[in-house]
Amino acid sequence: MLNLRPKAKQITGLKMLSQDWNNYRTFLISAPVGYGKTFLAAYLTDKLIQQGKRVMFCAPFLTLVRQTATRFVQYGLPEDEISYVWRNYQPHDPERLIQIASADTLIRREFPDNIDALIVDEAHMKRRGLLEIIRDSGIKVVGLSGTPFSPWMGKYYQKFIKPTTMKELISIGDLCGYEFYAPSKPDMKGVKTSNQAGYGNDFNEAQIAVIMGSSTLIGDIVKNWMENGEDRPTICFCVNKSHAAFITTAFNRAGVTAEIMIDDTPPDDRQMIIHRFEQGATKIIVNVGVLAAGFDSDVRCIINARPTKSEIRWLQVLGRGLRTAPGKDLCKIFDHTCSIHRLGYPDDIEYDELKGKTDGMKSATATSRPEKKDKIPHECPSCHYMKPIGVYVCPKCGFKPLAGEDVETDISRGLKRLNGKERTYTRNEKQAWWSQIKYYQKVRINKGKPTSDAWAAHTFKEKFGVWPRGLSDFPMETSPEVWNFIKSKFIAYSKTQKVA
Ligand SMILES: [Zn+2]
Repeated sequence: MLNLRPKAKQITGLKMLSQDWNNYRTFLISAPVGYGKTFLAAYLTDKLIQQGKRVMFCAPFLTLVRQTATRFVQYGLPEDEISYVWRNYQPHDPERLIQIASADTLIRREFPDNIDALIVDEAHMKRRGLLEIIRDSGIKVVGLSGTPFSPWMGKYYQKFIKPTTMKELISIGDLCGYEFYAPSKPDMKGVKTSNQAGYGNDFNEAQIAVIMGSSTLIGDIVKNWMENGEDRPTICFCVNKSHAAFITTAFNRAGVTAEIMIDDTPPDDRQMIIHRFEQGATKIIVNVGVLAAGFDSDVRCIINARPTKSEIRWLQVLGRGLRTAPGKDLCKIFDHTCSIHRLGYPDDIEYDELKGKTDGMKSATATSRPEKKDKIPHECPSCHYMKPIGVYVCPKCGFKPLAGEDVETDISRGLKRLNGKERTYTRNEKQAWWSQIKYYQKVRINKGKPTSDAWAAHTFKEKFGVWPRGLSDFPMETSPEVWNFIKSKFIAYSKTQKVA
């Protein structure tokens, strides 16, 4: 028996899995950061070993093998039933019910024939030996991934299970919110792209290293953080080792304690760096891709200095900052690479099926995102805050763009959606509307013609279908869009009042 109970969204996932357990052999559970996929894996393992089944959990790296084993024991799985499968590990006991393996070690021809179920962590990462096992072994397979976007996944996993989304986890408070700023705009014109293992198409590293290594850009990164970083515990993502070294030095010169963490950093040193970071002695960890998985310290600010086109990389970078922590309000994100202009907010990246299903036609259309363009947020020309779609006056600095400065936002406000699909709103968009309604209410009070709180709440509900629960009452100048909506509702409301 485990010593924790699954959370609501984990229960949803487990139910969806058990409903289809006998209909399919291979499953992929979409588990965004904050979902608790390791606990879900432990829960599933517990259920299976209670039936006398033998389970193998496969992690992509050795560090994650150790980390998973520790967590499994913390959750209450029997330590004396755990054995490890990785190169040179002795003594391996193949009879134990829980086998924790490193993906690099698994080879089809040596795969033990006494395993009943295989759980694959970070299942979007391509490991040939492992994929052959998934395809040929005939055993039950449950893959877990927060970024199940790799183009081949549909060929190996039959049933896609999506119990929740990042947006939903933010809205129920399992993840915290974020604020995006785009203080620098490096020019990526002419940069080559190529397919990069595990990430899909992305920029040529050598070329972006040159662009991002300019002293002006590095100066901007330090200056912006000093001015707006509020001394938050911060992680910075860089292109390569020398880029990371430049940025670390620049912060240190400015009197900010920053430490570098790269592939070559030995595990013990990493532990020390993380420890100093958690104590507050180190303010910024400057890293190159090594803080992407299995790092869950309290991070309240992210500096992105690595341009990317890869949604997988983008989500993994941002995911580091969205975990909740006591006293944490939100995560500030400083994107110095224009990636936000290319890829949009992390919680707007969603797919409803796996790519690469054998029915080629369908997957070709399913993977393109026609709505993408209207989801890209807009930058405040004054403070570089990335405003959600439909927000006109900057909620951060109050700047009101002149006609023409906010063109795309104007388009999105003017056009009706033609696809008939119900539009989903982000928390930021709802907050923006609520703040504007509260502003309108304040104006009415000042004019001596107050409207009630109930009126404000009803107006919000008419727009979004839900009450403005959990939103801040902080007022924000009313945009023409919200003003028109209020006006139309107000007319309708006063009509019914007259009738009554
Ligand atoms: Zn602004």
